[in-house]
Amino acid sequence: MIKKVDHVSIAVNSLEEGLKTFENLLGIKPSHTEEVPDQGIKAAMIMVGDVEIELIEPTNPESGVAKFLEKKGEGIHHICFEVDDVDKELESLATKGVELIDKQGRKGLAGKIGFLHPRSTKGVLIELAQKI
Ligand code: ZN
Repeated sequence: MIKKVDHVSIAVNSLEEGLKTFENLLGIKPSHTEEVPDQGIKAAMIMVGDVEIELIEPTNPESGVAKFLEKKGEGIHHICFEVDDVDKELESLATKGVELIDKQGRKGLAGKIGFLHPRSTKGVLIELAQKI
């Protein structure tokens, strides 16, 4: 079951610059920043009500986020929905014909996560996350 929007993720060329922009815009400082070497990104989370804005900067030129920036430039990278059981949700979506990037949940910034392919979701990369 999908519970709520967990976060909206924005790809930026520079986390420092991105944070300046969004701190200025929202008047809120990031709750934390984190480097995720296996995804080739560093990220900063800004809590707005009960939804996070996540800024991500690639640290590896081969990462998906680096390729996204090259192709599309800065902007919304994905939307994440919180679910109660990510594996169950992925399985159920697959049976409905939704194309998955992750067939099974894996560890990510937002908990146990899985991505759906934008080909199946009107061009929007969607992440599902189960809090762990
Ligand atoms: Zn995310």
